[in-house]
Amino acid sequence: MSRIREGWGRYWSGRGRRGIELCGEFANMYCTVGIHPHEADAAEKGYLEELRKLAAAPCVLAIGEMGLDYHYDFSKRPAQQQRFEEQLELAGELGKPAVVHCREAFADGLAILKNRRNAENPVVFHCFGGNRSEARAVLDLGCFFSFTGTITFRKAELIQAVAGYVPLDRVLLETDCPYLSPEPKRNVRPNEPALLVHTAAKLAELRGVSLEEIAQVTTYNCRYFFGMDDIMDSVSKLD
Ligand SMILES: [Zn+2]
Repeated sequence: MSRIREGWGRYWSGRGRRGIELCGEFANMYCTVGIHPHEADAAEKGYLEELRKLAAAPCVLAIGEMGLDYHYDFSKRPAQQQRFEEQLELAGELGKPAVVHCREAFADGLAILKNRRNAENPVVFHCFGGNRSEARAVLDLGCFFSFTGTITFRKAELIQAVAGYVPLDRVLLETDCPYLSPEPKRNVRPNEPALLVHTAAKLAELRGVSLEEIAQVTTYNCRYFFGMDDIMDSVSKLD
């Protein structure tokens, strides 16, 4: 664990910049910038200003991942909470969506969202892993769900029930690489976007609809959530 943590604080802004550089190298690539809860302790003073600068790049679609992770507790909980609150407010101020990582911290995460979120700002719970009542609370707050390869896993009845139940217009799909490759490719490393089709197929099966419908709806939701049509318009005007 300590090996994973080592150096994160020093490199987070470098990695944010690298993400933006990559977006410049590849067409149709976008990114987010943020302080992950694992890095909350290491975030340097002035990190919000740095994020604000990075977020000005047109390829930065959202702020995040931000949130709470009480499973690993790599950073102290008060620091995680504070970074989450600050970044939520920044996302609201910048009018950018927030990508939330919330693991084994649902009650605290919801409380922060209720208190600090700009109500008009879109929020997605990435790699959602909650139960039905937690899903209900996310719905009540008007937030989105993003599902990963975990919905394809055996013994994943709880999350499969949720993925089959929440309104499809609130659902996004994500790779969440390098881990969480979907069945039947679960042992493939690294996980990559090409494998997302298996997650989409599972969602189609759970909902009794076609794969094409899932592809169409989740693509639309993604473009809507991240405001990609506006961004693509403004980028093409720059050409
Ligand atoms: Zn995450």
